[in-house]
Amino acid sequence: MRLFQKHFCAIAISLWAASPGNAQLLVEPTLHIKAEAGSGRVALTLDACGGRTDTRILSALVENKIPATIFVTGIWLKHNAAAVEIMRAHPELFELENHGGRHVPAVDTPQRIYGIRSAGSPEAVLAEVESGAAALAVTGEPAPKWFRGATAEYSPSAIAMIRKLGFKIAGFSINGDGGSLLGAKETARRIAAAKDGDVIIAHINQPTHAAGEGVVQGLLALKAKGLTFVRLDDADGIGDEGTTD
Ligand SMILES: [Zn+2]
Repeated sequence: MRLFQKHFCAIAISLWAASPGNAQLLVEPTLHIKAEAGSGRVALTLDACGGRTDTRILSALVENKIPATIFVTGIWLKHNAAAVEIMRAHPELFELENHGGRHVPAVDTPQRIYGIRSAGSPEAVLAEVESGAAALAVTGEPAPKWFRGATAEYSPSAIAMIRKLGFKIAGFSINGDGGSLLGAKETARRIAAAKDGDVIIAHINQPTHAAGEGVVQGLLALKAKGLTFVRLDDADGIGDEGTTD
């Protein structure tokens, strides 16, 4: 009986901790780059959350000399050495930044975001950010200056912590591929609609999804319109929610 009570109590506590009433209000910060005279500049950011590499996108970037900021996790780095080698062979195109060690959302209370369990505590947020940076350091890349958490949603207290670690937080202004779940046509339409100062987010880790084809089409359309692409390190990023200032 005592064992049952103990067990029941543990369930009750875990239910309480996961209840929406206890969930922190999360923010999804935006990011723009400073507008410049001319035909316009956009920043392309691509997340490599886990899984493999979409070589349709990687090849198109290299062939068309389109610079991009790639947010990589420790998990992705471990299984995509060939892609990392290609990126490192083109330092003029690719800037690698921190997408966390294990791809857990930078939210310091226990809750689920799009079905993914959050880091859940300040210590776990810290570990996610620091292990992501450590995994990048092993590749020989310059130390990351930008962080983007899994799901791109944050608790305000996590934002403050990450800023204290010295990282800027990369929001976005155009959700290009809807988490890589959109069709090719809609993805291409969204990306091709980018204007001067926009920061696009899409994914480079889902080679089997139709969205990847749309990413390439959208980028080529932007290039044809005369827009130029910059990496986050080459532009003045202006984010809200205290993510860059
Ligand atoms: Zn991700």
